[in-house]
Amino acid sequence: MKPKQKREKIFYIFSQNLDWVKKHHQIRFEPDFENGYICPLCIEVFFKEDLNVNLNNFLTLEDVPPASLGGKARILTCKKCNSRSGHKLDSHLLNALLEADSKLFLPNSETLSTFEIDGNVINGKIKIDNEGKFLIDFQKQYSNPQSSKEFKKGLFNSETVYNPIFYPNIRYTTRFKSKEITMKFKKTSDERRAAIALLRIAYLHAFSKLGNSFIINNNLKIVREQILNPEKEILPKIFWIKYEFPEDCEGINIITLPKKLNCYLVTFRLITKSISRQFSIALPGPSEFGSDIYKNLEEILCVGDGTEKEGITFETLPDRDYIKDEDLVFGSHYYWQEYTKESYKPRFPEK
Ligand SMILES: [Zn+2]
Repeated sequence: MKPKQKREKIFYIFSQNLDWVKKHHQIRFEPDFENGYICPLCIEVFFKEDLNVNLNNFLTLEDVPPASLGGKARILTCKKCNSRSGHKLDSHLLNALLEADSKLFLPNSETLSTFEIDGNVINGKIKIDNEGKFLIDFQKQYSNPQSSKEFKKGLFNSETVYNPIFYPNIRYTTRFKSKEITMKFKKTSDERRAAIALLRIAYLHAFSKLGNSFIINNNLKIVREQILNPEKEILPKIFWIKYEFPEDCEGINIITLPKKLNCYLVTFRLITKSISRQFSIALPGPSEFGSDIYKNLEEILCVGDGTEKEGITFETLPDRDYIKDEDLVFGSHYYWQEYTKESYKPRFPEK
């Protein structure tokens, strides 16, 4: 399907979903509208005309997760939001994962590195091929010429092995000197930005599965603010749970106990050439505790890096079509009340 057709298809599906959600007697829009699409990040309303790529702020296809990490186009975001928080964040995440693959020496990984002998540095790459073979690629062309020359001198030892009978044309061979080489991975990602890219994926993943009723939740305002302003420290450091959940829990979960951790937990996979990893990101629910769950996560659950300390109880939302089935469009709210035993009134989000 062509990108234009794909955008139109997604537009109509979510626009229909929005019209069903708007039928709820507690949901009011001023001014009211029909056949619109809400950008899940800025909460602005867009119309069919906004699919026109010649406009300044048209609706763009959004891969959830990024295509480079195994995702595909599932929703639309406006161009403004996409350029404020899209590719730039995703590239930090991709690089962070590729660096992690290399540090584990996983097959099919590759990373930039520096190598040093006696203070002489050369740039290069460390590659692990698909059979796990370790390859070093010194890149003289990207290094200081003097330094790489000295490095080479330190690395190799030339000696004559002249043998005119068998090798009339070869007079020298090189051997490795038994020297210590210091190898350092080059860091090309920012950890905080990579983490915010994960938050963005989780939020957009939940929107792509649960639709417009999911974003009717003022407690998510702070999440949107953080995604759109990755340079600011809006959320606390930890917003994930570092634990490998069983595969059938991948999707949208709700943490039911302890009560102070009531939240949505979005569990998804990111795939590099080397490995598939699972991530679980917390998003505030629509009732009590709201965005305080991030504070509570750090207090109750984490030992510094987000490793789980105490047990949690959670329920996984059934895998149903919450977008295209009119009877299910409030599914996220229904299961929230069902699982947490809370009732509340859905309100439309403030911008
Ligand atoms: Zn937007």
